[in-house]
Amino acid sequence: MIEFVKMCEECNPGEIEFLQAVSEVAESVKPVIEKHPEYRKAKILERIVEPERLVIFRVPWVDDKGEVQVNRGYRIQMNSAIGPYKGGFRFHPSVNLSILKFLAFEQVFKNSLTTLPMGGGKGGSNFDPKGKSDLEVMRFCQSFMSEIFRHIGPNTDVPAGDIGVGAREIGYLFGTYKKLKNEFTGVLTGKGLDWGGSLIRPEATGYGAVYFASEMLATRNDSLAGKSCLVSGSGNVAQYTVEKLIELGAKAVTLSDSSGYIYDESGIDRGKLDYVMQLKNIERGRIKEYADKYPEAVYTPVDSSLNYNPLWNHKADCAFPSATQNEINAADAQNLINNGIYVVSEGANMPTVPGGVDIFLENGILYGPGKAANAGGVSVSGLEMSQNSIRLSWSREEVDNYLKRIMSSIHKACVAAAEEYSTPGNYVNGANIAGFVKVAKAMLAQGII
Ligand code: NDP
Repeated sequence: MIEFVKMCEECNPGEIEFLQAVSEVAESVKPVIEKHPEYRKAKILERIVEPERLVIFRVPWVDDKGEVQVNRGYRIQMNSAIGPYKGGFRFHPSVNLSILKFLAFEQVFKNSLTTLPMGGGKGGSNFDPKGKSDLEVMRFCQSFMSEIFRHIGPNTDVPAGDIGVGAREIGYLFGTYKKLKNEFTGVLTGKGLDWGGSLIRPEATGYGAVYFASEMLATRNDSLAGKSCLVSGSGNVAQYTVEKLIELGAKAVTLSDSSGYIYDESGIDRGKLDYVMQLKNIERGRIKEYADKYPEAVYTPVDSSLNYNPLWNHKADCAFPSATQNEINAADAQNLINNGIYVVSEGANMPTVPGGVDIFLENGILYGPGKAANAGGVSVSGLEMSQNSIRLSWSREEVDNYLKRIMSSIHKACVAAAEEYSTPGNYVNGANIAGFVKVAKAMLAQGII
């Protein structure tokens, strides 16, 4: 396995996030490969880390001042063994090949866990929607789609949202695809309700991360009621995580954005959450304004001279990292443990560095890694695809019940795989192994392609 990881490093130099994700999966599936010589012979691991296709393209657009701007667009079509490529678009200045390849790679195993027929992909651009007018965002989305439309389709590759891509961006992207192809199809998920979207899709990732935490707690005859929770981010995933926590009687006390975080000891209640939704989704403001509106909350700006994030240094029971990758370093993980946290359910993708994951596992806390805990979003995207195919819409209750069932079966699959490979309670191994085996079997059946 050391040789395999070395080979990946040589083939993908400098791709830090991608290599981080590959190393973790390789470590987990080592006993599976040892037990199954047929996977070794068919070079499943060597093939699974190589994207089936990479599309990289120029995205030129004109800003409000009439100046030409140029961004770079990407789509990583990672693996289609069990279904069409599926995974979001991310628009953020930090976007590069390594970050999108790590996200696409994680997506392969996550989608496999959902029980639905979806392969893995991811895409996006280094475009930053923050501070841009609606018209600028529209022009960018139109330019982006005018290239990517030829590589996607309802049976080929079905993108969705991610950081920086919400309802507004999906609307502009879908409108352009429809015009270019002259067809109304389920080519994107996260669509508006009146034009092919699914109820519960906006809520799904946050709700799913909370359902996963509930499932983990249930293994210890415990529940979320009365628990105090640290939540990072203040976007889609964070907002609906807080919504479900409130509903289940828990208390969220933090939220953040890339400028800083707020700590509200009295808890973020329904009224305060409505304010955050208005602030972030409509006014596109900063989380600092929460503390201006609610003086009982304390705002702390980001201090880049610190080697830890003070958000993770408060007494609480549970943590829901819901902002971005590697937002919990080893010092943060230790602070969480020291503060009594015993449940971590990851809404974000790979928010914990490997050293932090080791600390969670050594301390035996209930740790749900992103590819299991945040799979609710792509699951309801899969349900949106099903509804588009049969041209019907299911009720809120129906979709939420599906979501609950899927999160419960993902939890069961993780527990069973972790036990089968002698690491009971280790959801990292459980998720990686359960996700891997299904894709490996399909790749084996489909020959060397
Ligand atoms: P949004 O764009 O809606 O929100 C992202 C939030 O995280 C914002 O508050 C943003 O702050 C903050 N953030 C982003 N980058 C950084 C950074 N480098 N440092 C600090 N804060 C940061 O995105 P989502 O809520 O959709 O996504 C959040 C996470 O969840 C991501 O890891 C994503 O991959 C993952 N995820 C999302 C799914 C979905 O359905 N949307 C599905 C599964 C996983 P600011 O506004 O200042 O940038």
